[in-house]
Amino acid sequence: MNERLKELIGRLEIKHSLSLEEYEYLIENRCEEAAKLLAEKAVRVRQEIYGRDVYVRGLIEFSNICKNDCLYCGIRRSNKDCDRYRLSEEDILSCCEQGYELGFRTFVLQSGEDGYFTDEILCPLIRKIKSLYPDCAVTLSLGERSRESYQRLFDAGADRYLLRHETADKAHYERLHPAEMSFDHRMQCLRDLKEIGYQTGCGFMVGSPFQTAHMLAEDLKFIETFRPQMCGIGPFIPHKATPFKDEPGGGLELTCYLLSIIRLIVPDVLLPATTALGTIHPTGREKGILSGANVVMPNLSPVSVRKKYELYDNKICTGEESAECRNCLSLRMESIGYHVVTDRGDVKRLLT
Ligand code: SAH
Repeated sequence: MNERLKELIGRLEIKHSLSLEEYEYLIENRCEEAAKLLAEKAVRVRQEIYGRDVYVRGLIEFSNICKNDCLYCGIRRSNKDCDRYRLSEEDILSCCEQGYELGFRTFVLQSGEDGYFTDEILCPLIRKIKSLYPDCAVTLSLGERSRESYQRLFDAGADRYLLRHETADKAHYERLHPAEMSFDHRMQCLRDLKEIGYQTGCGFMVGSPFQTAHMLAEDLKFIETFRPQMCGIGPFIPHKATPFKDEPGGGLELTCYLLSIIRLIVPDVLLPATTALGTIHPTGREKGILSGANVVMPNLSPVSVRKKYELYDNKICTGEESAECRNCLSLRMESIGYHVVTDRGDVKRLLT
């Protein structure tokens, strides 16, 4: 590894910041030694703040109906082969009940942008979950809504919100989304969420079509300035019913390299080793944790719908019961010396 790389990694660890050009250099000059050094530092920083605890989030994919047409996504509205479903309130509550039994203390309600789920429907549901499980956090991942709607859902008790920015490069955003979607609006949503008081998560896909090292550097710069409480990154995986079906997917090594860098930029960030990472490699999530991640998000959705919430091809764990997923993940984490804990797993933020 050259001296410049060494110096950049050392400075990143101390200052949590590099210039755009320096981030780009770090990405362009990725090598095994640099990856190893970054992972060592990232693991050390994570250890100081979160120890060897891994937080679990129970993911409830409650609707795959979506008004958007994101070019990369398997549940885009143009995909006529997608078998659409919407869980009832009763179904969702029963996922929470099972999840609570299994030790989950965060429920992530995720869906396509399904117009059925108005604030009038969602607020009472959130209140109900919070009153039944007052020791649990509710995370929402419902896409773009108005600031007023985000405020109402927050007032109803939602604690966190995940909204990946997808790419911090406006021109790139426009190549991944249809013309009616707006980069500026998505970024405004993220600012609104954080201002309202949500623990807010941004994030992006690694290896998405047209992505360059420069664009990844822009993602890192955005994360540095936005300082999210959570950050979801995972490899892009092509879906057979999208225009990007023949594109190559993102890689394990680059994703883990970026996980380490993000840990050093925002030391206390809640960083998942995503299901997509587990999909491209049998021990992808373990490698993610060993690169600085500290969260896993197994599925709590009813097995009957799991295969239908197909954002990308070959998604893992679509046949397993929630209990099996939870056990399997605990074993996987133990095998590398980490422990899945029964805890809300809030961000341990010292400075805001
Ligand atoms: N509709 C909501 C949340 C659901 S999609 C929203 O817009 O936020 C959740 C995430 O899955 C997206 O943010 C995207 O980054 C990721 N995703 C979608 N298609 C994917 C693909 N083909 N490969 C990998 N990740 C994908």
